[in-house]
Amino acid sequence: MDETELALAREIDVLDDRGLLSNPRPSIDRDALQHHLREALRLLHVDLTDENLLDTPRRWSDSLVTMTSGYDYTDVKKLTTLFRKACSAADENCQNLVVIGGTYKTLCAHHILPFFGKFIIGYIPERMIIGASKIPRIVEVHMRRLQSQEHLAHDVADTIEKILEPRGIAVWMGGVHLCMVMRGVEQEESFMETNVLRGEFLNDERTRQEFMSIVNRRGSRD
Ligand SMILES: [Zn+2]
Repeated sequence: MDETELALAREIDVLDDRGLLSNPRPSIDRDALQHHLREALRLLHVDLTDENLLDTPRRWSDSLVTMTSGYDYTDVKKLTTLFRKACSAADENCQNLVVIGGTYKTLCAHHILPFFGKFIIGYIPERMIIGASKIPRIVEVHMRRLQSQEHLAHDVADTIEKILEPRGIAVWMGGVHLCMVMRGVEQEESFMETNVLRGEFLNDERTRQEFMSIVNRRGSRD
């Protein structure tokens, strides 16, 4: 990161700390949440006097609050404006494919069980590029919600598209879904892949192939 990028990163963090980046949910009644989670365990005939479980409703409720904290960031306009500050102009020679990879973990909206894996995001800049460290933050905002892999990939693509207005955006995600591994059919083959291709990735065969060959190299399940 160069100096400007660092300054902007700091600015976003400060704004975030002050709560200006977020549009927080109404305050959560943690006592009520704990109470209901305790009741859920009771209905399952779990022995809540077991010393391992004494503090479980509190821990469970704290985890759920953290893992759904993406709902504090629903003001798309605010989010877009602030992330735009972390963008710089793309020079004319720099309109090639930009690729950023990372990992994600989230909860499935259908079963509230984790699914997690890798993402690879590619875009072709039009006027702007964004600091590489901001892309994982955009993914994070969306993964801390109840999600499906399909929705997560589309939400991330939508946000990057709004911020950068690129000539094309591609989001690949590959993940293991515990709701498939641990329940029902207990499928061991639970690695699912999702592809979102827009703009030049749809219209230009070469751009698409360039991206897909990176996915094939870096996107395996291990
Ligand atoms: Zn599920």
